[in-house]
Amino acid sequence: MLIHAQACMHAGDVLIPFEYDPGEIKPTDIEISISHCGICHSDLHLMENDWGTNSYPLVPGHEIVGVVTATGAEVAGINKGMRVGVGWQRGSCGDCSHCVAGEENVCTRTEATCIGSFGGFAEAIRCHHRFVFPIPDVISSELAAPLLCAGVTVFSPLARAGIASGMKVGVLGIGGLGHLALQFAKAMGADVTAISSSKDKEEEARKLGADHFINSSNGMQMKRASRSFHFLISTVSSGLEWTHFLSQVRPGGDMCLVGVPKEPLVIPIGTLIGGQKSISGSSIGGTKSMQAMLKFAAKHDVRPQVECLPMDQANLGITKLKNNSARYRIVLLNF
Ligand code: NAP
Ligand code: ZN
Repeated sequence: MLIHAQACMHAGDVLIPFEYDPGEIKPTDIEISISHCGICHSDLHLMENDWGTNSYPLVPGHEIVGVVTATGAEVAGINKGMRVGVGWQRGSCGDCSHCVAGEENVCTRTEATCIGSFGGFAEAIRCHHRFVFPIPDVISSELAAPLLCAGVTVFSPLARAGIASGMKVGVLGIGGLGHLALQFAKAMGADVTAISSSKDKEEEARKLGADHFINSSNGMQMKRASRSFHFLISTVSSGLEWTHFLSQVRPGGDMCLVGVPKEPLVIPIGTLIGGQKSISGSSIGGTKSMQAMLKFAAKHDVRPQVECLPMDQANLGITKLKNNSARYRIVLLNF
């Protein structure tokens, strides 16, 4: 069997057609015929080798939805014909305390879907059954795909922080992750502020759940939000002057970074000590978070806003993402 895919052969290259033989199916694996795959900014970071983690050829894609076409001998509970999804993670040790608790995302032996293995810009994929999730019937495939990385990455820290009515949440960067963070935070009951470098996103941000909108280049608007947020989640993919945003966190609050700019974080320590503030990071979500997120999104009608393109136009999708012109997630289709 050959799997046809789109691959980046060297750092910074565009995607070109590529095929590979996945070999025999492993007893623990599930094979999926991919119908939809979202384009996450992490795919772009990988294509440009921003994090220095990559080997090439690289087949990006880790917001995968499709139909099960084969299962290994040890797989139970997921059968041929089921509609399923896969996110950023395809493997972990399975035995450590984190894996046992359903927090496989922090296992030291975590395996990413498209680092060291070929990802979802392809017609099919195989991965460990533990990281294959049935999609709720009420969520269509194109709207489910972005939830599997973007969705869980913002849901998980918001849920862990206990976001609820009476809390003020800031969402910095209104892209694929950010536009879902607005919806999750709103559905959790928070007073939500979108903080964006794109003035033209205000109207849509408000429709998505933002009670307030700050244009990050407007000094007055930025200042007015000083010491206001219990929780500020940054989804920005580039380095920023972080002290400006930390100053908007109220004493005792948390600035949680999920966006992964390649530049290191530089923060004067006094800005943390003065207000007893925290800076935290959060990585996708384990299987427990993924299941909770899918249930929450189905119940509260949290859905991405997507633009669909054929799989063979993946390069156009990548260009739109790079130009910050995707509204708000591009999903590639295999039909
Ligand atoms: P995206 O759709 O490109 O959104 C990022 C947003 O950040 C942009 O829409 C833009 O929002 C803002 N931004 C980008 N460059 C900026 C700049 N120079 N100055 C100010 N704002 C800027 O990307 P995404 O797919 O949401 O991913 C966002 C980040 O999260 C990436 O770094 C990705 O690798 C990371 N990520 C992390 C995890 C994790 O587990 N922690 C999981 C998935 C993704 P505005 O136009 O509103 O300013
Ligand atoms: Zn991602």
